[in-house]
Amino acid sequence: MPASTAKKKTKKTPARAKRRERRFVPNSLESSKLSLIGGGAGALALGAGVYGQWIREPAVSYATYLVAGGALVLGAAMWFGDVTAHPVRVGDAGVAIERGTELSRLAWCDIERIRLEGDKLLISGEGLTLELPMSAHKVAISWLLKEAAGRVPDVVDVKGSVVDGLPEPRDTDGERLEVKDVQVAGRRCAESDQLITFERDARLCPNCGQVYHLRHVPKKCVTCDEALGSSAIGA
Ligand SMILES: [Zn+2]
Repeated sequence: MPASTAKKKTKKTPARAKRRERRFVPNSLESSKLSLIGGGAGALALGAGVYGQWIREPAVSYATYLVAGGALVLGAAMWFGDVTAHPVRVGDAGVAIERGTELSRLAWCDIERIRLEGDKLLISGEGLTLELPMSAHKVAISWLLKEAAGRVPDVVDVKGSVVDGLPEPRDTDGERLEVKDVQVAGRRCAESDQLITFERDARLCPNCGQVYHLRHVPKKCVTCDEALGSSAIGA
């Protein structure tokens, strides 16, 4: 990370500084445990059914049900295996969960609370709560808590002992991406309440992502106290 930080600082046009984030795919071993068990049972039943119906002579009467039931369980396992955990992104634009091509995103400035409930980390903002299963997303959660502690520490409601049990964030973790297509038009400037009509009129707090109209950027971010001025970046 030192390279990109240095680059950001020496750039002459901070309004065009690139925002970055990391993309984490769920730990496939953990997230597929459930689907493996279900899938295994389904495949077994399917196999037994096929054997009973078409290979064994005479055909076993319940074989048809085994085939149908096995296919059903297998299908369900694949379906649930797919929905239990999604890729997650953590970085300058907050936290986002990928569902196919859809991104559910909460900017740091919009997060009200980050807490643990059972095996899930809940990141809640007004009207949206993102859920991350701990078992499938240890590395992402470790990064998320580290970044949240630096950017918006007041919203973090997670015990230190939980953080200690997570893997240490490493620079090689996740896939580095440039943040793109974050909608800011339609939001209101946090300082002046002026409606942001065009993306180009927006300036963002580099720390928490709070949105300001370019003519009303305060000296300090109203949400996180970060010094702004020329360090506010374009959307
Ligand atoms: Zn801020």
